Amino acid sequence: MVFDILAKTGHEQVVYCHNRDAGLKAIIAIHNTVLGPALGGLRMWPYKTEQDALNDVLRLSRGMTYKAAVSGLNLGGGKGVIIGDPTKDKSEALFRAFGRFVNSLNGRYITAEDVGIDVNDMEWVLKETEFVTGVHQVHGGSGDPSPFTAYGTMQGLMAALSFKFGDEDIGKYSYAVQGIGHVGMEFVKLLREQGAKVFVTDINKDSVQRAVDEFGCEAVGLDDIYDVDADVYSPSALGGTVNHNTIPRFKFKVICGAANNQLATEDCGDEVERRGILYAPDYAVNAGGLMNVSLEIDGYNIERARRMMRTIYHNLGKIFTISQRDGIPTYRAADRMAEERIDTIGKIRLPQMGNTGTRFLGRMRGLG
Ligand code: NAD
Repeated sequence: MVFDILAKTGHEQVVYCHNRDAGLKAIIAIHNTVLGPALGGLRMWPYKTEQDALNDVLRLSRGMTYKAAVSGLNLGGGKGVIIGDPTKDKSEALFRAFGRFVNSLNGRYITAEDVGIDVNDMEWVLKETEFVTGVHQVHGGSGDPSPFTAYGTMQGLMAALSFKFGDEDIGKYSYAVQGIGHVGMEFVKLLREQGAKVFVTDINKDSVQRAVDEFGCEAVGLDDIYDVDADVYSPSALGGTVNHNTIPRFKFKVICGAANNQLATEDCGDEVERRGILYAPDYAVNAGGLMNVSLEIDGYNIERARRMMRTIYHNLGKIFTISQRDGIPTYRAADRMAEERIDTIGKIRLPQMGNTGTRFLGRMRGLG
């Protein structure tokens, strides 16, 4: 039954990781390594069933393949999930046991943080394997990627404004930002620095208050965000908020934000296109975090990181051009751009796995 699913999703490898003493039940999914080793975060979540965990890791790892490919990175897509409650089930043994499984893949999969995981957990993983990114700066890591994701989102936003309105004057437009967490708070700060009108909402009232007091944003209710008369909707919390219930309420002209999986279903992408709303594909817009951790492979450098983030502007420009050229919605154009790159570069790289892993090993050895 798993192979039937894999035949549809195209995954290369799925590894079930079990250690009874450590209480580890994890799955690592490697979707595609044509462009390079599969890099993707580790999520810890109390999945109700093993099937839920499998579905999640397959969906997320495939997403990483597309994100890396469209962003011009020499990386493939992978992801790990641990079945467990991050508030109760964490231990040194758990993460070290997971690290040993990562190590056994010898660089085909490089792990990082995701939901439910923090830098301290990653330090246990680092004790067992060098194939870890997103660790603390003292270990040669790049720290919290969120500010870079926000900065990258600004680059995507400029490309979207330019395509839709013919200028990139961020301060001229108004924004409805849903979710002001790690990425969202930095994003609204950057918007306000440009003088933009910014509406915010969050389930966390303290965050809303901070955005109002510190940055001069205007607070709106949780559900009211979809009715705000703003130029840009910026989902920065959960996925699936562009759906058949919310779309008819939109007065927005552009959708551009950091959240993953913004479209509830693909036909929502068709629907926003029909309504003349420009959707900036999420995985191209929010690639700043992935770009940032990817630089740990060669030895991290903040100047290189900022330069790399700016490529998000050009990537979005290419996606919009493909969408116009081929007469397809932007979400399909992003997929097409990613698939074309995997196909083209794959033809010249197939005999070897790519040099990224080798350089990664060199960097980690350098750490002593
Ligand atoms: P976070 O948990 O720090 O922030 C999310 C915020 O959304 C929280 O403040 C939370 O209270 C709020 N929220 C949750 N449900 C809400 C709702 N229904 N309405 C309004 N607010 C709600 O997460 P983050 O790291 O800022 O990530 C935000 C989004 O961006 C996620 O979808 C994440 O997958 C995506 N993303 C993050 C990064 C990164 O570098 N952190 C990179 C790529 C993509």
